Amino acid sequence: MLKKIDKAQVFLEDHLHLFQCPVCSQAFESVNNHQVICRDGHQFDLSKKGTLFLLQKSMKSEYTRDMLLSRQRLAESGLWVPLLDKIQSLIKHPEGVLLDIGCGEGSHSAYLKKNGYKGPIISFDISKEGINLAAASHEDIFFLTADLARSPFASHQYDTLLNILSPSNYSEFDRLLKQGGQVIKVVPNRGYLKELRELQEESKQTYSNVQVVEKFEEHYTHVRKESVVYTFQLPEELVEDFINMTPLGWHIKADFDNIRTKLKEITVDLLILIGESEDSA
Ligand SMILES: [Zn+2]
Repeated sequence: MLKKIDKAQVFLEDHLHLFQCPVCSQAFESVNNHQVICRDGHQFDLSKKGTLFLLQKSMKSEYTRDMLLSRQRLAESGLWVPLLDKIQSLIKHPEGVLLDIGCGEGSHSAYLKKNGYKGPIISFDISKEGINLAAASHEDIFFLTADLARSPFASHQYDTLLNILSPSNYSEFDRLLKQGGQVIKVVPNRGYLKELRELQEESKQTYSNVQVVEKFEEHYTHVRKESVVYTFQLPEELVEDFINMTPLGWHIKADFDNIRTKLKEITVDLLILIGESEDSA
């Protein structure tokens, strides 16, 4: 069996046209000895885990390893399954190239791959910790650390841009998306994790996605919206992970014993926004 780093090299050899140099935005010319090189000679090494680090400098992320592990355990317990099944059913090009933008520890794209997504998946995040954990945990996805503001991806090569609970950059999305491609963005609805909000001070209890949705609708002409609402039975041993999972939980000072007895189920209330690139016809 190939080592992860060799597998990643083979992937890059086959898919080098999907990337570009994050320094000069030119195409990568070759991949040899676990190193990609652009036309201007900028070089980037594959890590042992088979990832690329394409940030100009390390970014400080609010995501700690503990938090990422909490997210991973919750994902493995099935927290996102109804959402991801819905997304899978909405993907128009299941054999095309999918880019997971802000993939965190990689659980979402890993689920899609395991459940029948046929095309190549490239997943990136600005958090190196997230990418390290993702690459250690999942096969058959190319993971890299990169910044959406200086993204190392070639223009108009991606059939699906997946953007789950993570910031967008629509001009960059336009550049990356293939003609006829889809942007699938997931944002919270009002009831999202309401049990967690209810544990907080009043000021933080309401959330509105109106501005985010408006911005999306301004940018894409034919927008489809799908709500996904379900209740997840939270196993007691995952309550602490749940509190750690989002910044919402970080400010809760109540004692865990009290929360553990109260928090039996959680509401997942999300809105999927689907935008498509303009057809030339
Ligand atoms: Zn370069």
